[in-house]
Amino acid sequence: MPELGSFEGGCLCGAIRYRATAEPLRGVICHCEPCRRHSGAPALAFVHFPGTAFEWIGAAPAWFQSSAHAQRAFCPRCGSTLGMREDVLADRVQVCVGSLDDPSRVRIDDHVWTRSRVPWFDTTDRLPRFERSSAAVASLAEDGNPPGISGSS
Ligand SMILES: [Zn+2]
Ligand SMILES: [Zn+2]
Repeated sequence: MPELGSFEGGCLCGAIRYRATAEPLRGVICHCEPCRRHSGAPALAFVHFPGTAFEWIGAAPAWFQSSAHAQRAFCPRCGSTLGMREDVLADRVQVCVGSLDDPSRVRIDDHVWTRSRVPWFDTTDRLPRFERSSAAVASLAEDGNPPGISGSS
């Protein structure tokens, strides 16, 4: 069992595990097309952990350079979607919430890139929704060019 205040997770096959020893800085559900394709799901939820309080345990993930400013982590053995790094948010690791051992322990702050939301996929929460990036974080993504599309973050 992880200590109180620490968070653990990993991929489907168990080869890649991680541990964070700080509370998440932020949680977000992203509806952008690159997140949709990377996950194979209608939207992808992330929590951001401070890089200084995060470590990969065991095997390291593989990283796909999804744009000039972003890389996406996955397990090369089982294919699980694990996370994302963005140059503009280099102080943190963005972990896919579905890879956490206990996703119920983290909170989501807002929705981003709702302009790309799949129309039949919606949630009943009252969280802020942003058509593009959230006002809460810096972004290199350009208008009409969500994170992961070439030339943006
Ligand atoms: Zn795996
Ligand atoms: Zn996204």
